[in-house]
Order: sequence, then C-alpha cells, then structure tokens
Amino acid sequence: MTDRYAVIGNPIAHSRSPAIHAQFARQTGQDISYERLLAPLDGFVATVDAFRAAGGRGLNVTVPFKLQAFDYALRRSPRAQAAGAVNTLAFDADGVFGDNTDGVGMVRDISGRLGVALAGCRVLLVGAGGAARGVLLPLLEAGAASVLIANRTAAKAHHLAGVADDSRVRGCGFDALEHERGAGSFELLVNATSAGLDDAAPPIPDACYRGARLAYDMVYGARPTPFMLRASELGCARVSDGLGMLVEQAAESFRLWRGVRPATAPVLQRMREEIAGA
Ligand code: NDP
Repeated sequence: MTDRYAVIGNPIAHSRSPAIHAQFARQTGQDISYERLLAPLDGFVATVDAFRAAGGRGLNVTVPFKLQAFDYALRRSPRAQAAGAVNTLAFDADGVFGDNTDGVGMVRDISGRLGVALAGCRVLLVGAGGAARGVLLPLLEAGAASVLIANRTAAKAHHLAGVADDSRVRGCGFDALEHERGAGSFELLVNATSAGLDDAAPPIPDACYRGARLAYDMVYGARPTPFMLRASELGCARVSDGLGMLVEQAAESFRLWRGVRPATAPVLQRMREEIAGA
C-alpha cells in the first residue's frame, strides 16, 4: 500500500517539497505519495488529526506552524528540543515523533557540497528567528569555534545566545557588531533573516565579510540574493543560497520516515534547473 506524506503550511502552493520527495521516492524505489496540505491558520491540529486518521504517515511542517508542530509531538529529538520547533512529524504505533532537520540540512550542505569544514570555524549568524535557532545546535555540534548572533532586534539575539547556554555563543544587535567582532575575522557568514530577494542585504559592517570562506544565505531563488551579491563584492571566497539546505533537510526527513538516505546531488541539480526556468 502506498504510504501518505505531505507538507503542511499556510500558504503552501509555492512549496517545492512534493517535487523533491517525488524524486527521492523514485530514486530509492519507495512507494509513497507526498502532497501539499493547506491548513487554516487556526486549524493546524484539526488538519493534522484528519491526515493521521486517514492513514497519513508523516508531515513536513512549514510557516507558520513549526511551533504548533513542536507542541503536537509527544516525543522529540534533541535537535528539535534545542530548536524549539519541529519541521518533521512521524506517526507510528508509538504515537507522534517530532524532529527538526533544518539545521542538520544546512550543516550538511556547507560541510558536504560546499566543502567548508565547520570544526574550529568562527561563525557570524545573522538573524535570531526560528531558522537561526534551528541551526545553532548543529553548528555547535559540528565544532564551530564561536558563533556570534547578530540581529536587528538585539534582545532576540541576546535571548537566543542565552538559550544556547554555551560559552562559544554570543548575541548582539547590528549596531554593536563592529565592537563584538573584535580583531578577528569570520570564516563563515550565515544569513538567517527573512529579508527576501528584493530587500537590502542586512546592515552588517563590510569588515565582517572580508576574509570569509563562505557567505551562506538561507533564502534561495533564481538569482543571487542581495547578501550574496554584497559578499561577492567584498571578496568572500564563496557564496551560496539555501536551496541545498532545502534539499538536505528534506533528505533527512525522508531518512527518518523511510530508513533510507537518498542521494541529494542530482535532486539539487534538478531543482536548480526548475527554479532557473520558472
Ligand atoms: P522568523 O520570522 O522566525 O525570523 C525572521 C528573522 O529575520 C528575524 O531575526 C528578523 O529580525 C529578521 N528580519 C526580518 N526582516 C528583516 C530585515 N528587513 N532586515 C533585517 N532583519 C530582518 O523567520 P525564520 O527564522 O523562520 O526564517 C528565516 C529565513 O530562513 C526565511 O527566509 C526562510 O524562508 C528561510 N529558511 C530557509 C530554509 C531552507 O531550507 N533553505 C529552512 C528554514 C528557513 P527581528 O527579530 O528584528 O524581527
């Protein structure tokens, strides 16, 4: 029997997850279906309950439901616990399990495809929302030497640094970044703000970009983001958008559900072509 999966969100029509999981299923010979599930803004729990009652086996969860998914899960992985958010739900005989694969997806994309070693790396993490929180533990587990979180609202950066409870992590507002940066340079810059393709690059000092091995933007699209363009202008060795993170987080969800890890490189290449042609 075909096992049912879906991505739940609001809005959801734009989601590329069905295309990604269809390719994973073909590649690994898994008999699954994967659809888009639009939940009313006040109807997350009812929509998930109905999906489960109809035999659904698992869900990816996207904006704005990751916190509600966290509450819905009776058991959670340590990385979901650290992120305070769930992007993957698995339903089985033991009940509901919640995981967060966003952070490990980004770490895999950076250390695997992009070949940037995270051990000993000095990281500037720009943004302090859900995505930033999700990548913090995986960055630390990968051996980052330090993570400075800089955010438009300084209090959120301080709060996130406090939650991390790790001496390698500090937080500040954009205005204090020059001071907090100290004399050293960053090897990795991650843009985890939700500023889109048509917004300006985050207001971080030019000096932060200089000497970086990689500037990584979680946002993705058909053209380089303002953050990527600024980083290139200022001499960052390499820039990347977050499409690889999207594919890697999906692969980790697929592995959790099906017990088999799909190859991500051909899927990423196909998604890149689709986005370029859209
Ligand atoms: P949140 O809404 O939780 O957080 C948004 C963050 O962006 C906050 O830190 C906010 O600052 C900051 N911000 C928003 N607008 C601006 C701006 N104009 N200038 C500077 N800072 C700004 O969003 P998420 O953390 O969930 O998502 C962040 C981004 O990451 C989104 O674009 C999302 O699509 C992307 N993402 C990509 C994934 C992938 O697989 N590639 C996976 C998950 C997320 P403040 O606190 O001051 O409001």
